[in-house]
Amino acid sequence: MLLQKLEIIQEGKSNGEGIIMRYRTRRGTDIFCLGVPLFYESGEDWDLGPTFCYLIPGKKTTLIDSGQFNRYELLKALLKRVGCDVKDIGRVIITHSHEDHDGNLPELIEDSGAELWAHYAFSNMIAYYHGIDDGASHPDFPGSCRCCLMPDRFNRNCLQYHEKRSHLKIGHPITEASDPPGPDYRFMLTPGHSPDSICTVFEEEVLLSGDTLLATITPHPTLMLEYFVNRRILPEGYGSQNDAYGLMSYINSLYNLKTQCRDVDLLLPAHRLFEKGKINYLKPSDRAAEIIIFHLERCGNILKILDNRVLGLDEISLDLFEPRLRKGWGRFLSQREVMSHLELLAICGDIEWVNSNKFTSRATGSNNYKEFFAKYI
Ligand SMILES: [Zn+2]
Repeated sequence: MLLQKLEIIQEGKSNGEGIIMRYRTRRGTDIFCLGVPLFYESGEDWDLGPTFCYLIPGKKTTLIDSGQFNRYELLKALLKRVGCDVKDIGRVIITHSHEDHDGNLPELIEDSGAELWAHYAFSNMIAYYHGIDDGASHPDFPGSCRCCLMPDRFNRNCLQYHEKRSHLKIGHPITEASDPPGPDYRFMLTPGHSPDSICTVFEEEVLLSGDTLLATITPHPTLMLEYFVNRRILPEGYGSQNDAYGLMSYINSLYNLKTQCRDVDLLLPAHRLFEKGKINYLKPSDRAAEIIIFHLERCGNILKILDNRVLGLDEISLDLFEPRLRKGWGRFLSQREVMSHLELLAICGDIEWVNSNKFTSRATGSNNYKEFFAKYI
């Protein structure tokens, strides 16, 4: 049961930008939750809010995630407000290789000399692979962004960040077998939103989940077909069993969180810890279970929408999502969301591809996905 509450130390915007909160564990360790602002063009239709980065002061002061690129000054200002100079940071843990989580990292590591912990595939994700095309929409981007769906006007801003990031050396690659930094830490490898996602359990009391578990929204799953684009850039042997990419890998990670974090009290996610002027208190295992059910239901809804028709991704997504979520690049994201479920349904035999180039599909009449999900519920 959650005994402690989060305390607001610095007020921010109602979406959490600029907010600082403190959580004090039962053992008396402080965790500062910093709402590092994000800049997207989502406008009023959809607001992700800030990236929450977490500072744990101690013998080796630890920062989990470093916010969106080009926000270094904002990150430093928030750290300063809780009495932390960048030079005080001795360890940085990165939850995954996305620009709203590992931005500012090169600057931060250079200024602090901190040790860097990340999934063992993180170094593959930040490197470039000139000459390996394999169907990537952006073969000239680093591993993490070879399938980038953002419009050019957005991702051209990332080029400098990509370059700087590619020089990072990961001193502490996290594997299933590697030791955590100390007895207070437990790492879990949780692919699904990205192949290099990790979660950190701290003092068996809080789960710092990155994007793997979010409050009030669910992260976009990767696609199985991205495995084929990235097969040659991944660590050897990783991903061939649907364990790096796709909704199945994500459901498996959720199940691990549900079963291996039963006694963990509080979810500290990278987004939406605070929104609409209030704090979201969630128990990690409950939230993981909820998201599994959400995807089970979404599979059922997609089959219902297909009915006896042959439909493309956009036609399904039109039926599935509210119009405001399909505005701008939301439209592509919504198609991608449909695709991740269709891939799972295809493996279960519940849909078949009609035109695999155009991704049109038809339902076969079976509901085998229920059996697949039953193992995880
Ligand atoms: Zn994120």
